[in-house]
Amino acid sequence: MNKQQLFTSIHTHTTFCDGKDDVETMCRTAYEKKLFGLGFSAHSPIEKQLGRESGWNLREKDVDKYVTEVLAAKERWHGKLNVFLGYEADYIKGRRSPLDNDITALNLDYIIGSAHYLFPENGTPPFTVDDNADEFERGLLEGFGGNAQKIMHIYYDAQIEMIQEGGFDILGHADLVKKNCQGKNYWLQETEAERQREIAQAAAKAGLVIEVNTGGINRKKINDVYPSLSFLRIIREYNIPVTITSDAHRAQDINGNYDIAIETLKLADFKEHVLFIGKINGKAIWQKEKI
Ligand SMILES: [Zn+2]
Ligand SMILES: [Zn+2]
Repeated sequence: MNKQQLFTSIHTHTTFCDGKDDVETMCRTAYEKKLFGLGFSAHSPIEKQLGRESGWNLREKDVDKYVTEVLAAKERWHGKLNVFLGYEADYIKGRRSPLDNDITALNLDYIIGSAHYLFPENGTPPFTVDDNADEFERGLLEGFGGNAQKIMHIYYDAQIEMIQEGGFDILGHADLVKKNCQGKNYWLQETEAERQREIAQAAAKAGLVIEVNTGGINRKKINDVYPSLSFLRIIREYNIPVTITSDAHRAQDINGNYDIAIETLKLADFKEHVLFIGKINGKAIWQKEKI
């Protein structure tokens, strides 16, 4: 990795949701690693939609504390590290959206729009596409009769619907659904490319930035960035800006495997990535950085 190159880390989780480290530890680590900016992106609260706490989302009762703590860190680190207040907002069709009032009211610096949850139509319990393998298999069998192709389509449909609804700045882990499906013969490569093209088209039209997320590698769950090289090649065709993120759940992963992200972007013929530098009049501002 080029030493002069600037990086940010704006997809991170702390003890406010399912991360292991607190806000200050994340700031100190980002500063020590000479990052240009650090954004906090707690999973938006979801207990109302689930009817229970999820164990990995910010709890409703902690929202004010989260905002206050991140804003205090922003003040404290001013001049040393650019700190941003964000959310990774869940999208669940008809149930949860980045446009929900409780989210827009916070006036966040940025929002990552992410789909995780699947709510099976047969009423079996909802689960997430990045659950552990056993939970995913249970949901797949109970909710979808073992048809993983269906899950893939529902996941990609959800992202297209989310993009069309809007209310966020960055498309989160665009092919997260592959995590529990790859290598299981569930996957139709041609269909996948078609669906990914639909997502890229929608994202380009919406003026979104797409993240290149190393979280699966950092957590040793998968050997690949989200989105994969083949998807990134499609994204490149549509000239969509990309930002490198770690989805860090521990301070030590704050810029984990960014070298792999850079190498993958080079293979997809990207010449630059972008850094979030703030929001002006409701619009995210990005700075280009050469690869
Ligand atoms: Zn996520
Ligand atoms: Zn995340």
